[in-house]
Amino acid sequence: MNDAAAPPPATGWPGVGPQVAERLAKLDIRRPQDLLLHLPLRYEDETRLVPIAAARAGAAVQVEGEVVSAEVVLRPRRQLVARIRDESGLLIARWLHFYPSLQKLLAPGRRVRVFGEVREGFFGAETIHPRIRAVDEGEPLPDSLTPVYPTTAGLAQSLLRKLVARALAAMPQEEEPLPPALRDRLELPSFGEALHALHHPAPDSDAHALETHAHPAWRRIKFEELLVQQLALRRAYNARRARRAPVLAGDGRLTGALHAHLPFRLTGAQARAVDEIARDLAAPHPMQRLLQGDVGSGKTIVAALAMLQAAESGHQAVLMAPTEILAEQHWKKLAAWLEPLGVGIAWLSGSRKKREREAELARLASGEALIAVGTHALIEDPVALPRLGLVIVDEQHRFGVRQRLALREKGADGTNPHMLMMSATPIPRTLAMSFYADLDVTVLDELPPGRTPILTKLVAEGRRGEVVARVREACLAGRQAYWVCPLIEESEALQLKTAVETYENLAAALPELRVGLVHGRLKPEEKSAVMAAFAAGEIQLLVATTVIEVGVDVPNASLMVIEHAERFGLAQLHQLRGRVGRGSAESACILLFAHPLSENGRARLKVIYENADGFAIAREDLRIRGPGEFVGARQSGLPLLRYADLEGDAELLEPARALAERLLQESPDTARRLMQRWLGGREGLLRA
Ligand code: ADP
Ligand code: MG
Repeated sequence: MNDAAAPPPATGWPGVGPQVAERLAKLDIRRPQDLLLHLPLRYEDETRLVPIAAARAGAAVQVEGEVVSAEVVLRPRRQLVARIRDESGLLIARWLHFYPSLQKLLAPGRRVRVFGEVREGFFGAETIHPRIRAVDEGEPLPDSLTPVYPTTAGLAQSLLRKLVARALAAMPQEEEPLPPALRDRLELPSFGEALHALHHPAPDSDAHALETHAHPAWRRIKFEELLVQQLALRRAYNARRARRAPVLAGDGRLTGALHAHLPFRLTGAQARAVDEIARDLAAPHPMQRLLQGDVGSGKTIVAALAMLQAAESGHQAVLMAPTEILAEQHWKKLAAWLEPLGVGIAWLSGSRKKREREAELARLASGEALIAVGTHALIEDPVALPRLGLVIVDEQHRFGVRQRLALREKGADGTNPHMLMMSATPIPRTLAMSFYADLDVTVLDELPPGRTPILTKLVAEGRRGEVVARVREACLAGRQAYWVCPLIEESEALQLKTAVETYENLAAALPELRVGLVHGRLKPEEKSAVMAAFAAGEIQLLVATTVIEVGVDVPNASLMVIEHAERFGLAQLHQLRGRVGRGSAESACILLFAHPLSENGRARLKVIYENADGFAIAREDLRIRGPGEFVGARQSGLPLLRYADLEGDAELLEPARALAERLLQESPDTARRLMQRWLGGREGLLRA
């Protein structure tokens, strides 16, 4: 999140000095509204008194009684021990840390209320560090449960409670933003009712529903939060739609020729994607589309056809890939497809020699090359793309927002280029509907025909010998294999060392095979030579680090071994496994794991073993890790959801989306007020 854009801490609140204001700001509380939406974590029930004899072990309760005695004892360690009596029994209260004021309060004969967890101790009922205060006989009990708020060091619950209560009392009777019919249908209370129910629940409230967020008041708040997220995303979407982009209508000359030369027919899903993209490109505002397709679903050809449509319209198109290996592979594939059609392709990457690079830059600057493929080298300043009309980002989750924005700024004549983001990390539906709602999404939900399913095996490290034998057999039968080295997150040097050792051991164990090694520390031209040799079949077994994780496409490779598979994330395992199963040969992925397995590692291996479908895996990933990481991959400063939970509250998403659309059209004022209420000054962050 961009802190520079955050509004300053609260000032001028009665009883709130600069230091408290700073602490409140840590909780994102800067305005009275922010206090209203600072909702309790849980509650304490001080609305009733429990006889000491009836206090259940372990439960937090409130008792009232008379102080019998209070003394500081020194054994087993220094502590203040008080005995408090009511009609039913005796309670011992202990404090290991205490101020003299507490000693003074505990004068024998004084009537006190004690709130705390009561346990059965050696001397009977006892409680440690309870909250305590002196009361008069018959003093009334509070008429609502006591909220416990999330807080930060140096900010007392009692102060937060006071501030929230004050804000709640001063809350203007705003008009209710949600239409009554919708509130009836979803059984949602009004905003004011919901806040009262959450900050000051009546003593007979369903405490369980409150704490698990199933209470209607919580549903109201979560609905509103999802609504605001939809509003913000929708506004960002509309703002981008209001910009200008070159019209890339195309005339079918080049795309038709490519279709005619392809060795395969597009799948139905590919054909639909091509159509959708073609329509977007012909519109005068920038496309902002995400093309999602599982590993191997054939996104590259869809990208190629889109680039040709741009070229037909006299505009340039660039394809940016996250790694050198992938960029080079794309370049080779595209050159094979497009050069016969007379379309010039430039290839830019850090690995090209200065002279080559300059020649490519000149071809782009003159417009001779209409298509460019490369790594982030494409965004560097000297790359002039005078007629840029289309930007395609492959494996978009690997790039930051800034890199995508940089390409957008290169549009021709003050226009924005059309943007197509491609991703093989499938985004579960709930996420697509929420955090990604500012993009149009096309899904390739069909794999090209003739693929045989990949057999996945879990094998314990102890049986490594059998795995090596299997690799030998497959390679001697004319197929190829990958051996992925363990991920060592803590140390790149150690990871490299392990890769080299793995390579040496395998090469020694398999003298009859041609074994190669590729890792991130090789010089680009070395990497490129190894990958070319593997693609050509000269290398039979490729030992690799995760540099081969994305995109690499060598159809004859049909066996993959992943060492210490338990260390990899789910998305990574799925991507890696997707490097095989690309040809017609039966493919297998062997996941070697070492004991002991952590609970999480075991859960991940189970998911990858049981599921082949990237969407199912992503859903499980979302369940195991939460949305943070998926959303993190967007890096777009999106406000995270504080209260709504995408999986649990999925049924609220669709109505929130529909209402957002309606409010933006029919009552933009309400929409603005809602966003103001939730986001304050943070709305400007949604740009990418
Ligand atoms: P990804 O979606 O993972 O980027 P690719 O574009 O690399 O997938 O395609 C995977 C492989 O499938 C490539 O070898 C590609 O040429 C091939 N392919 C793509 N579309 C089809 C199709 N419709 N029929 C047969 N093979 C296809
Ligand atoms: Mg790809």
